[in-house]
Amino acid sequence: MPTGKLHVVPLGGLGEFGMNCMALRWGDDIIVIDAGLMFPEAELLGVDIVVPDISYLIENRKYVRAIVLTHGHEDHIGALPWMLSELNVPVWGTEFTLAYVEDKLDEHGLLEQADLREIRPGENFRIGAFAVHPIQVTHSLVDCVALAIHTPLGVVLHTGDFKVDPTPTDNRLFDLHAFAEYGKEGVLALLQDSTNVERKGYTASERAVRRKFDEVFARTERRLFISCFSSSIHRIKLAVELAWEHGRNVAFIGRSMVSSAEIAEDLGYMEIPQGLLISPGEMKNTPPEKVCVLISGTQGEPMSALSRAAVDNHKHAHIEKGDTVVLSSRIIPGNEKAIYRMIDHLFRRQAHVIYEDGSSPPVHVSGHASQEELKLILNLVKPRYFIPIHGEYRQLALHAEMAAAMRGSVGNVVLIESGDILEFDELGARKVGRVNAGRICIDSGSRSDVVEDLVIKDRRHLSEDGIVLPIIAINKLSGRVETSPEIVTRGFEPGEDGFAEGARQLVMQTLELSSEEEKADYGVIKEKIRADLKRYISKQTQKRPLIMPVILEI
Ligand SMILES: [Zn+2]
Ligand SMILES: [Zn+2]
Repeated sequence: MPTGKLHVVPLGGLGEFGMNCMALRWGDDIIVIDAGLMFPEAELLGVDIVVPDISYLIENRKYVRAIVLTHGHEDHIGALPWMLSELNVPVWGTEFTLAYVEDKLDEHGLLEQADLREIRPGENFRIGAFAVHPIQVTHSLVDCVALAIHTPLGVVLHTGDFKVDPTPTDNRLFDLHAFAEYGKEGVLALLQDSTNVERKGYTASERAVRRKFDEVFARTERRLFISCFSSSIHRIKLAVELAWEHGRNVAFIGRSMVSSAEIAEDLGYMEIPQGLLISPGEMKNTPPEKVCVLISGTQGEPMSALSRAAVDNHKHAHIEKGDTVVLSSRIIPGNEKAIYRMIDHLFRRQAHVIYEDGSSPPVHVSGHASQEELKLILNLVKPRYFIPIHGEYRQLALHAEMAAAMRGSVGNVVLIESGDILEFDELGARKVGRVNAGRICIDSGSRSDVVEDLVIKDRRHLSEDGIVLPIIAINKLSGRVETSPEIVTRGFEPGEDGFAEGARQLVMQTLELSSEEEKADYGVIKEKIRADLKRYISKQTQKRPLIMPVILEI
């Protein structure tokens, strides 16, 4: 047995939803698995993304050898621009994952200097003291891998995100054999996705939504809008196939949807027959019964294509009486209000709206393994140590409890959270301390825009740049804007005379360009005013005051 210590240090994702990131260390070699973000909750006003605190990696900068990615979801790759601007290390990922990464790094002007290295399932590669074996798994996205990391003390198996889908639409199967082989040879530790530990049974295959889609295509008489996450490649592929079978043309709307579909087509995950695709502009000249639109915005994000279409404020996507809108995604907790508000707008336009309501066949299936699949992997792998990952604390704890009851398959169960250092040596495993871990809020993805936490951000905002309150009076009955908006500022020195008048006019203009429904939806209208004013103020004054639109009903 070699002497030395292996450290497993989760920096995010254990005890919270999102920002998955974990360091493995042996001597002078550190590898990082995943670099994810967390989407900010609504109360983090004005913060664009949340990333994990990586001060442990920065302090040990010279030992960090690489970042290895399991797949291309934002909660696994979204913090890369921020992390790579701190640590310039190679990034390993599968072909599809790297295509998403390239897009993202390009957006931040970081692609040139990035060192991206492609991996393939089944092909081992070495990083310092570690040999890494990527194993093909199935998930809601394509080209996803688990990682078997060979360390001097034994194999650490990190599942990444997965479900055991026996019929993925790309026919690239979950490599159960590899898991079983490792189980026979012996595995030091299994780190497994806890997302769906509360669900009994098995998660349905991606193909399970085909029946529902088929039904909807057959029944829809006018235009059909389908919205899903732009990364739901299996879903987009099914929709495209069915559109072809049912004689509908396809238009992609929304930036992320367009680029994701392009990547999927380029890499051979989806075939788009000649003549099937139409541009959004061509929709108005195509008979409604011949149109299928794949549109982004399932979560009711105020500025997304579907939200704008729902209030008739999209250049190309108009929703009319008798159209059908399918929301093929889950309702992420915290987004309920925004989503149901959007659905209300769609109902008001007399569209048929189909969303996940528990009925069968399903319009959406989860991408994560349920209890029986988790147990299956545990039985195949038979790890000496089991560590639940990727979940809120309750999910980690339930996963630990479930594994502890499986005495035939599992040695010891260890429950750790982000920031804990779990140490392995020839004698066993134990928690030996903590590193800094937590959330870092960032405006617009750059390093200079780090916001330590909400309170500090607000205080700094207020002390340095002050506050701007655009006050708009709306008549409750007529929905009309009654008087010219007022712009109140505190601690903010606009500098030139024309500022208040310019800001007032800008708000008026935003209001004029908004539909009646947008004006009636205070969430939407406030966000529009805030975004427009932010742009105006930073252009005029190079300052970034806190902007809080206030709507008075009179
Ligand atoms: Zn995922
Ligand atoms: Zn994930």
